[in-house]
Amino acid sequence: EGTDLSSGPKGNRLTVLSGPSGVGKSTVVAELRRSHPEVWLSVSVTTRAPRPGETHGVEYFFVSGPEFDGLVADGALLEWAEFAGNRYGTPRRPVERKLADGVPALLEIDLQGARQVRDTMPEALLVFLAPPSWEELESRLRGRGTEPEDVIARRLAAGRVEMAAEKEFDLTLVNTAIGDVCGRLLELLVRDDPPPGRF
Ligand code: 5GP
Repeated sequence: EGTDLSSGPKGNRLTVLSGPSGVGKSTVVAELRRSHPEVWLSVSVTTRAPRPGETHGVEYFFVSGPEFDGLVADGALLEWAEFAGNRYGTPRRPVERKLADGVPALLEIDLQGARQVRDTMPEALLVFLAPPSWEELESRLRGRGTEPEDVIARRLAAGRVEMAAEKEFDLTLVNTAIGDVCGRLLELLVRDDPPPGRF
């Protein structure tokens, strides 16, 4: 508790957590928020509607389409992407302020966004959240088994393509027990020079 995040040599590092859809990125981030509130997490803007239990300014800033257009036009987003019919983006200023203050910043974004950050901020550490096995991701993508077979087939094909993105990342964090994953992620945020590989 209360890890001093500004003390490390890489205290001003930007870390991007990404990975295939359905791998459990938001679960990891929700647990990190709960157990390590001292970690600064970027709050994205999105055009999607809030889900039950979501609060404006906590999980997301919920905005209209025209508001999102305005942010893009103003260059106010570090990156943005369209996902499942909605747009998502990272507000630029808060991230830049944290890094300038020597506080590590963490983004949880999709693969398209991770690629944009890689291209525009090469100093960022890109972390790929991987399922413990393909079978594990497959069963998550199949969901409750209530969807038509063609929908499931499309999801599985997309999942295989997304898994191939792992090689574009600096390192891989394997999504095992939740507390354990958070511990390893926290270590990556403060570690001086994380070696490539799987954690
Ligand atoms: P959800 O609607 O389930 O909260 O998120 C859908 C997807 O959008 C997830 O893969 C999540 O990582 C991604 N996402 C959330 N915020 C951002 C963002 O600011 N930029 C990008 N590129 N993706 C985001």
